[in-house]
Amino acid sequence: DVVVVGSVNADLVVGVDRRPAPGETVLGSDLATHPGGKGANQAVAAARLGGRVGIVGRVGDDGHGALLRGALAEAGVDLAHLAVTPGPSGVALITVGPDGDNSIIVSPGANARLTPDDVAAARDMIAAASVVTFQLEVPMPAIEAAARAAASAGARAVLNLSPTAPVPAEVLAVCDPLVVNEHEAAWLLGGPGAADGADPERMAAALLGSGPRSAVITLGADGVVVADAEGTARIPSPKVEAVDTTGAGDAFTAALCLRLARGDSLRDAARYATRVGAAAVRRPGAQTSYPTPDELPA
Ligand code: ADP
Repeated sequence: DVVVVGSVNADLVVGVDRRPAPGETVLGSDLATHPGGKGANQAVAAARLGGRVGIVGRVGDDGHGALLRGALAEAGVDLAHLAVTPGPSGVALITVGPDGDNSIIVSPGANARLTPDDVAAARDMIAAASVVTFQLEVPMPAIEAAARAAASAGARAVLNLSPTAPVPAEVLAVCDPLVVNEHEAAWLLGGPGAADGADPERMAAALLGSGPRSAVITLGADGVVVADAEGTARIPSPKVEAVDTTGAGDAFTAALCLRLARGDSLRDAARYATRVGAAAVRRPGAQTSYPTPDELPA
């Protein structure tokens, strides 16, 4: 159904009372190590929903690489194009403060070595998929190759433009949809001020004007706005008790891709994906929080 071209990271999480100043040392909680990375999160989320999912990516030849492969394998993701690179895997060094606030340093490691050749090698897997999806935690030449491969295979391309980075117009032009949260939408539309008081429907329509075939803006508890040739539509989120929103956007995008691959309209796919995003905030963590189909809210 879906091929994910993207990042695979180990999330290394330590709780702290406060962050160290330069030159200072503070003691933190026990270290927790979780499988993460936007690409891997999306692959796991789609597989847990019953999708046939492959990933094109790179991990290092270290212990984290083995852990990350294991998590993807356990979810049932096809690893034929997850290469092992000499050197470290990608890691996210995360400190969680007393208010639950995150500070994150990402060391891309093996993810930075993903090349257009890696994507070309996955040609057959891409040709067998209905949707190819990518985020921006891997190098832009690999993203450009993924967009081209999707177009030439007749697969639908979905870009989750996160974290924000300039994207070539040729890539945006094949996206159907472009998926962003409110902050990313504001960044794309020209600066942080664009979000303040801006109407999400208008922002989605403006995004459509920037090149993609369709656009989706996620609004957390407020659901999503979809814009395409038929116009814009607001889709609400189910009301749930939010415990931890980490990885909710990845769950949403994965579910959207899976339903599009199965032939849903963009609006129907987005409606289903809000239920998956909402389910993902009810439990802590990213991959650990992802639901199976029988765990979705109504
Ligand atoms: P990101 O995590 O990328 O910032 P959002 O916060 O917009 O993305 O969340 C993505 C999706 O997850 C939302 O569109 C919604 O479906 C779901 N979601 C997130 N937070 C909540 C919440 N508090 N209640 C219900 N659904 C939520």
